[in-house]
Amino acid sequence: ENAASDHLLDGLNPQQAEAVEYRGQALLIVAGAGSGKTRVLTHRIARLIENREAWPSQILAITFTNKAAAEMRERVEGLLGGRAEGMWISTFHSACVRILRREADNFGFSKNFTIYDSSDSRVLLKRIIKQHDADVLGFTPANASAKISKLKNELADAESYARNANMSDPNEVAFIEIFRDYERALRSANAFDFDDLIAQTVYLFRAFPQVAALYQNKFRHVLVDEYQDTNHAQYSLIRELTREPEGAGYLPGTNPGAALTVVGDSDQSIYAFRGADIRNIVEFERDFPGAKVILLEQNYRSTQNILSAANAVIANNFDRKDKKLWTDVGDGEKIIGYTGYSGHDEAQFVADEIEKLHSAGLAYNEIAVFYRTNAQTRALEEIFVRSALPYKIMGGTKFYERAEIKDAFAYLTAVVNPADELAVRRIINTPKRGIGPATVTQLASFAENAETTLRDALREASTLGFGPKMTRAISDLSAVLDEAAALAEKGKVSEVLTTLITKSGLIDALRLSRDPQDEARAENLDELVAVTKEYERNNPDGTLIDFLTEVALVAAADDIDDASGTVSLMTLHTAKGLEFNTVFLTGIEEDLLPHRMSANEPGGPAEERRLFYVGITRARKRLYLSLAMTRAQYGETAVAMPSRYLQEIPAELIEWKQSPGSANSRGGTQPRALNARRWQSNRGADAAALPPAEKKQWPNRVTGTVRDNGDLELAPGDRIRHTDFGEGRVNNVTGEGSKRVAHVQFETAGAKKLLIKIAPIEKI
Ligand code: ATP
Ligand code: MG
Repeated sequence: ENAASDHLLDGLNPQQAEAVEYRGQALLIVAGAGSGKTRVLTHRIARLIENREAWPSQILAITFTNKAAAEMRERVEGLLGGRAEGMWISTFHSACVRILRREADNFGFSKNFTIYDSSDSRVLLKRIIKQHDADVLGFTPANASAKISKLKNELADAESYARNANMSDPNEVAFIEIFRDYERALRSANAFDFDDLIAQTVYLFRAFPQVAALYQNKFRHVLVDEYQDTNHAQYSLIRELTREPEGAGYLPGTNPGAALTVVGDSDQSIYAFRGADIRNIVEFERDFPGAKVILLEQNYRSTQNILSAANAVIANNFDRKDKKLWTDVGDGEKIIGYTGYSGHDEAQFVADEIEKLHSAGLAYNEIAVFYRTNAQTRALEEIFVRSALPYKIMGGTKFYERAEIKDAFAYLTAVVNPADELAVRRIINTPKRGIGPATVTQLASFAENAETTLRDALREASTLGFGPKMTRAISDLSAVLDEAAALAEKGKVSEVLTTLITKSGLIDALRLSRDPQDEARAENLDELVAVTKEYERNNPDGTLIDFLTEVALVAAADDIDDASGTVSLMTLHTAKGLEFNTVFLTGIEEDLLPHRMSANEPGGPAEERRLFYVGITRARKRLYLSLAMTRAQYGETAVAMPSRYLQEIPAELIEWKQSPGSANSRGGTQPRALNARRWQSNRGADAAALPPAEKKQWPNRVTGTVRDNGDLELAPGDRIRHTDFGEGRVNNVTGEGSKRVAHVQFETAGAKKLLIKIAPIEKI
């Protein structure tokens, strides 16, 4: 054993070390959460490079999110004490985009293709459904896109689907037409949707063995994290990539194909709804004969109390191999339970606890708050903003989903990929320049007859017999796009963007508008310019295509900037693979967890239980489980029932905190017994079980209307009254403008930080 390499094995247990050192064609590491699977992958990569068994460029590592990829790269570089240039560490989608950008011209696409996100797909499907009058058959953009996505994940296309379809069923016939038109539209727009990225790469490899051979020859090691969540298309991609290369220049028997290492945990499979197939892990040994299997059992992440809760919950799934996680770090603190009156009350508890932990020295970025549905963020955000708690929503695609941001991206796309008709249609009359639907139809049919693109039709405006004003409007737009295209050749994404949004009139239309919302929209565009500048700093060689690719991939999965110094808010799905010192699992209620959509699906409640298990096992030291007695959901406030999964945790592991209505804290009635009864029976309670007086006494304190104390002057020494916290004294005021924060010592509620602009306070 050479001493210089030992740092890669020190600090690994014997099974982990074996996994790092094993050399064979196929290796499967199966183990529960926090047992060091990802760490083993990282060390294995470093070992291969350090031993010169592989160049960095011969390694392909697949992670589930971009964030995980960035982390893994950092760790490997840390272990190697330097950059590992040329190594591919990325998500399935990013790896496929990279391959497709290089190879797309082999099969009728060009490398400047657009990536459609789900809302782009839906816009397209909406038009197609309308053309076929298929809405009367019950087709919607949402259900059609879900069905198409599912098929693509199984590597079915419209043709293969049609071969097995029942053509006497009008629904099937209509669906096939929609699917076909959708495929055609993508192709003529030079666009891939998200599922295509993987499926088309597989088709490419199968149709062009010499292209496949390039990659089969390039990669000596393929490593996949979170293998339990791969779907059929992803599985097929891995098979293609690890095959022996064939064709001219490749001698049979000289290259057995890349070695494959996969790690996973079937208890953490949470993407069945997207076609993830647990069988990929269960049948690994059959698919890759001679595969070595290594089990890891020791958990290095969490305390025993947290693990015992996780073990107890997951043991209720019957179709699994029993494995028990253990640790030698000790029991640790008990899990803390809390039942709020409402979602807001629950959120207030979370915020207050975070403040306490922070005051005691815990950094904000060591804390995470998880929830099942995005809708739950509303209450959390309102309270966090009021409490001036720094937070960041991870995986929140919100910014990129805003209409004005999508408009700006449509401009950029029209420059990069003029064939993308969807993008050109989006910008043609945004901002309003008098080009109505009739004109667009005329332009589109000209394009069709002339066998050119809608983008090129804009250039011909003067020959199409429009009036002078219309001709002028169209030509001006075309000229702006040309100018931006010339700029794009030379680089600087921010300049291209600035040119587009100013010269097209997009930003001025918002700035001059009387709608107060438009001011915020203009600010968002400014923010987008800032994003491009940041991108340029981080990627000096990045082109406009690279930028659009990054945003398309990142916005879909996780976040572009890091969250240092802030509390992370995310869905349980996004939390996979991550760990935090302290975790708040919120909304542990029936209809949320298990989600009401899953309740009647076969395997649904079991998958939701795995999701709960994933959430619990993210916590290192401290775990909070919270719920509310009433929750505003689907537009109404309803009584919420404790989740069935709560009862699966042994009672002695949880310490239930005083509920907010208890006499000493807020002077209300004591609902604790009621809570206990409710979560033990988990049935029976209905709206009537809540005394009306309580509802009245504890209305949602925070309502939709956000107040504005914009000009309230506060200085140290001032006394104020807060709707909830009562009277207090201002100790300090920090921040500026709308971000001014008052640090207040309340007489009974203790120290709080309040965002002055919106806090429910008055000077007394
Ligand atoms: P998950 O299933 O949640 O993805 P995992 O099996 O990938 O978990 P890791 O994230 O690799 O687990 O490891 C969990 C934590 O334990 C990490 O902080 C890691 O650094 C630490 N860890 C893993 N192995 C060891 C070890 N042998 N000694 C000390 N710490 C370890
Ligand atoms: Mg992991």
